[in-house]
Amino acid sequence: MTSMNDNKYSGASEAELGFLKEIVRMLPAGLTVQDAHGELLLVNDAAAAQLGMDGSRPSPDLAPRREACRKALSAGQPVVTEEALHDGAARQVLLTTHLPVRLAGRELLISASSDITEQKNFEDQLFRSAYFDELTGLPSRRVIEHRANSLLARDRERFALAFLDVDNFKHINDYYGHAVGDALLVELSKRLGRDLRDSDMLSRISGDEFLLLLSPIQSQEEVAEFMQSTLERLTAPFFIDHSEVFASTSVGISLYPDHGRSFETLRQNADIAMYRIKNNGKGLAAFFDASMEREAQARIKVEQSLRLAILEKRFCCAFQSKVDIRTQAVKGIEALVRLRDDEGVIQAPGSFINLAGELGLIDELTHLVLAEIVKSIDLINDTFGAEATISINVAAKQAGNPEFMRSFALALEETGFPQRFMIEVTEDAFVAKNHFQAEILPMFRKLGVGISIDDFGTGYSSLSALADITADEIKIDRSFITDIHKRPRSQGILRAIESLSEALGMTVIAEGLESFEELAYLQAATKIRYAQGYYFSRPIFLEELKLATPVSSEARASVASRPMQQNRQGYSRASGYRR
Ligand code: C2E
Ligand code: MG
Ligand code: MG
Repeated sequence: MTSMNDNKYSGASEAELGFLKEIVRMLPAGLTVQDAHGELLLVNDAAAAQLGMDGSRPSPDLAPRREACRKALSAGQPVVTEEALHDGAARQVLLTTHLPVRLAGRELLISASSDITEQKNFEDQLFRSAYFDELTGLPSRRVIEHRANSLLARDRERFALAFLDVDNFKHINDYYGHAVGDALLVELSKRLGRDLRDSDMLSRISGDEFLLLLSPIQSQEEVAEFMQSTLERLTAPFFIDHSEVFASTSVGISLYPDHGRSFETLRQNADIAMYRIKNNGKGLAAFFDASMEREAQARIKVEQSLRLAILEKRFCCAFQSKVDIRTQAVKGIEALVRLRDDEGVIQAPGSFINLAGELGLIDELTHLVLAEIVKSIDLINDTFGAEATISINVAAKQAGNPEFMRSFALALEETGFPQRFMIEVTEDAFVAKNHFQAEILPMFRKLGVGISIDDFGTGYSSLSALADITADEIKIDRSFITDIHKRPRSQGILRAIESLSEALGMTVIAEGLESFEELAYLQAATKIRYAQGYYFSRPIFLEELKLATPVSSEARASVASRPMQQNRQGYSRASGYRR
């Protein structure tokens, strides 16, 4: 420890002074005493380390500290300062109290410093994570909101707020993995950020969503042109981890003041415009307009009522039989979900199933369908026979989701009769590069649950893809069956599917059989054994059967598959089903 030389104070013994010096030396806080010329009269060990005077590290630039001390001395008042000392790349932050004193006629400055570097670094990290996105380094939503709000408060210039959403980002993530997904976001943000002015701002607000603030702007045309060239830049492939990844982005734009006077309104309206693009082809940009708002409100209303319907469990199932076209016996039944809307009208799935998928409500819906089947199993057995298989539809999106499929398999197992069930999945689920074929299917097979390919012929798979699919049943879409007796091309396709299915050991079902002529064709010209369609039975509600006169077991097969007219009458009267 460097110490003052003239330390002969009256009353203190040499030993006591030595003891005090030792204490000062060992203090964990850095302590220095200096005179008016800046000469250090005392530096304890902690201070020597902090100021790089002990040789343990390169000495930092002390000029700013000297200046702070000089100021403190001349002010004659105690001051507390935060001092950042830099040696090369490293930064050390000291919290220092400077206390000017007069001692034996001399102006001295006592300075006590504690090292708060770690705390400062942590605070900085917190600050960065609150205001900047860790992955791309772009400003966060808060920052762009703040920026927009200050423009709004100033109210001097027009500006544009663009909402950008990467198309099918989830698929890219699923297909290439998260590391490539992350790298893509980084590269995308670089391309998006190119050509921005200092006064513009690009921000990543969540997963694959960005906000772009363009300010100032002259006209809508100018913004449209700029966005167009930005989108064009995105069409070139991204080279990531030896893969060529293609990505497009859909953009919705709102203008201030034309489309809103608050950040929230502008953001929402840009989002609405973006949504329109998503539904009409993706990869483009659109400006908000009032008609979109009406559309969005209508959509929100439907969304709300669907959420409510799920909450209130206002769902029921109609059952349609799969019939052996030679014996009329019921091979199995398919559960088709129905929604009772706010006004009590029964809705077919076409009006809500896709939305339920988008809103993440479809998994719950599928569980509700299963629950209803389990609840009505006795009535189902009485009506269709205890041997009839029971098919449940699963959307392709659900089929590729291991988490849902695991929970669904468990629920099927818990019924105690999983081997009675079949799941109907469209061919897309099989050809998508997801977990369905490899991981999920075996789980269902183990339980004895059958697998059916629904709507075959409408998806993207080719006949050759069929060879890789392991399923028990294939349902040929109604579009091939309608008027089959009059359509040679469909007949050819039917024959091809039929022979391939036979080779692969899959049962073929003709969907949507409506007329006697169609049936006659199938019987005469094909080996197809099973059909499902209005000709045999419309989907029926079990409550209707309860209301009807009890049926004897001999009559059962014919009730479940009786010709269409009788069925149609009872069905529409009791259910109020509107088509
Ligand atoms: P799908 O699985 O192909 O079911 C057959 C659809 O065709 C049913 O329509 C049925 O009522 C209708 N249909 C049956 N025979 C005939 C016929 O002879 N002529 C005509 N024109 N139509 C016939 P629905 O009940 O409206 O269901 C439509 C689609 O909604 C289903 O097609 C299925 O993909 C989906 N769906 C139904 N229930 C569920 C469910 O619980 N979950 C999921 N994810 N999707 C479901
Ligand atoms: Mg189906
Ligand atoms: Mg179908």
